[in-house]
Amino acid sequence: MKAEIIAVGSELLTPDRQDTNSLFITRKLNEAGFKVHLKTIVGDDEQAIARVLEAALQRSTLVIFSGGLGPTEDDLTRPAVAKVLGRALHKDMEILDAMREKFSSRGYRMAPNNERQAEVIEGAEVLPNTLGTAPGMWLEEKGVYIALLPGPPQELQPMIEGEILPRARNLAGGRRLARRSFRITGLAESDVDARIAPVYKTYQKIETTILAANSQIELHILQWLEAGEEPLEQEELARRIGELLGEAIFSTEDESLEEIIGRFLKDSGSSLAVAESCTAGMIGAQITRVPGSSGYFLGGVQCYSNAAKIKFCGVPEELLRKHGAVSAEVAEAMASGIRTAFQSTLGLSITGIAGPEGGTAEKPVGLVYVGVSDGERTLNFRRIVPGSREAIRERACFFALSCLRKALLSRDVSAQA
Ligand code: ATP
Ligand code: MG
Repeated sequence: MKAEIIAVGSELLTPDRQDTNSLFITRKLNEAGFKVHLKTIVGDDEQAIARVLEAALQRSTLVIFSGGLGPTEDDLTRPAVAKVLGRALHKDMEILDAMREKFSSRGYRMAPNNERQAEVIEGAEVLPNTLGTAPGMWLEEKGVYIALLPGPPQELQPMIEGEILPRARNLAGGRRLARRSFRITGLAESDVDARIAPVYKTYQKIETTILAANSQIELHILQWLEAGEEPLEQEELARRIGELLGEAIFSTEDESLEEIIGRFLKDSGSSLAVAESCTAGMIGAQITRVPGSSGYFLGGVQCYSNAAKIKFCGVPEELLRKHGAVSAEVAEAMASGIRTAFQSTLGLSITGIAGPEGGTAEKPVGLVYVGVSDGERTLNFRRIVPGSREAIRERACFFALSCLRKALLSRDVSAQA
């Protein structure tokens, strides 16, 4: 079943705003059995919206509009759709009352402009919008289904889940896309492909994609299923991929590395402190994105200067002089020093050269050392990461988390993990 998405809004044609709604919509429609074969971004222009819809009616079974249902002059999705379908717009008193009620409960008087949002296209089913003022609409025109949804993601998303998906599933009659994902660390994209391509290429019914973004690699395997069909081939391929990639896979549930680490630390009753030089706080920020991280993350220091490494991590001055700030010895001393300072189970450290200046033949830009200490043993890891200063910092951060996971997995450095 073919669906298409039309994102309406002139702001989406500027360099400042991105159409992210269509990504969410696509994932959900796939699960409900629809393939998105086309997406259009169109400005707040009635003629242009109308032309896209005219074409969409010729080529798609389901057409989803996002945006342009607001109260202002430039919100034109409603009149454009009504015109193309040759249907009237009428004011719906029930919606109008509900809108007035919503405004007054928040202590506002509704502006006359908002009345436009109570206009319904003849024959449309109204889709309630519990988080905003503009309701959505569901229409059928000669076997093509059309949904009009508001642009703000926090309004659109629950309406997709609650209103569009049940209808889409019904139309698809049990067809669906089964999706499995793998998140991978510690291998290059080409290594991942070299290991698994001979296997996945033998599964004709399955679409395999590898996506790489700043060190993290995602692998998706997708299989379209007919009504009542089980994803047997997909399960078999998933099992074989699991065997081939082993511990390089850190999640099959779309979890982030910091979530995985958080679970490890929590389950083993361990605590963590970090000493960050080249990433200056990014690792701490990443770890604390996870709700509940206060249960295991004690804190950290940005020891950017040598003086800070000495003062807060107890790194011996002589070590810095002898090996330099970017060295395995200093990374280890930082990890064990921060652990002592915070009295945590584990200490994690990073030191590196983010560039663009400061590299030498011996220590090039992108060189990063990570230390992990549990008090008894301290390990160090070395890597040269490529890219711009920003990319290096991001990759270094991911590398540090990968090293911590590796140390936890290997039980070389762990509490009871
Ligand atoms: P409103 O009543 O808020 O005006 P609307 O249906 O008219 O609703 P728009 O005015 O088109 O929606 O968009 C409102 C905001 O929603 C935009 O400023 C933008 O931040 C966000 N938005 C709109 N379309 C998209 C999209 N396709 N992807 C992500 N965000 C979007
Ligand atoms: Mg708008």
